[in-house]
Amino acid sequence: MTDPARLAAGRELLAQVQANAARLRDCPRHTFERLPGSQPLRHRYRCTNCEGEVDGHAHFWYEIGREHGKKEAA
Ligand SMILES: [Zn+2]
Repeated sequence: MTDPARLAAGRELLAQVQANAARLRDCPRHTFERLPGSQPLRHRYRCTNCEGEVDGHAHFWYEIGREHGKKEAA
């Protein structure tokens, strides 16, 4: 059987994930800063423009993509 409290918590989490994805998608250019208190190998980053948050893997590939974009534009 489904626990109503767990179901509500799951819906709230899904809404947060969707809102975060929408912020990141609509942002014209991210400027990420590492969140204080995040643990090594599990760092989190927040964009100072859209306040969207990403994990370390997403941040790593975003920064590599920016560097590749600069080389292609040169
Ligand atoms: Zn952003």
